[in-house]
Amino acid sequence: MSNITFTMIKPDAVANGHTGNVINDIIVGGFKLKAMKYLQLSKKQAEAFYGIHRERPFFNDLVSFMISGPIVAAVLEKENAVADFRTLIGATNPAEAAEGTIRAKYAKSIDANAVHGSDSDENAAGEASFFFSSFEMY
Ligand code: UDP
Ligand code: MG
Repeated sequence: MSNITFTMIKPDAVANGHTGNVINDIIVGGFKLKAMKYLQLSKKQAEAFYGIHRERPFFNDLVSFMISGPIVAAVLEKENAVADFRTLIGATNPAEAAEGTIRAKYAKSIDANAVHGSDSDENAAGEASFFFSSFEMY
């Protein structure tokens, strides 16, 4: 069990003015910021990041959505970070996300669902290093 996870505040949440509230929920939820940046992904970067979903029917729409506006990428630290962060954000479909979770509060649909959260320690490490060098994580 590792103690880091990776998140993105997705274009919908940034565009709808939820960036500050999402960061606050993350910090109040017990996560420490190790790295953070604000950027807009290129198509190539989004396709690479979501490469594991390449064969899924929603892949092209997901890539288009993720490059539609700026995002916030961050590495977070907490004991049991991956599982605890998935609990904090709630189910992929905000209609099924538990009350009080980030997706329940700020997401509108299963595709525009406000935040990304890593699904394993291995993917968390890979996703963190996709965006940040070791010198940028504190
Ligand atoms: N997604 C979608 N339609 C679906 C399932 C997923 O558009 O039916 C998008 C959604 O933005 C989701 C992302 O693809 O966050 C990655 O899907 P995954 O199953 O990994 O969900 P997550 O881990 O983000 O909860
Ligand atoms: Mg996932």
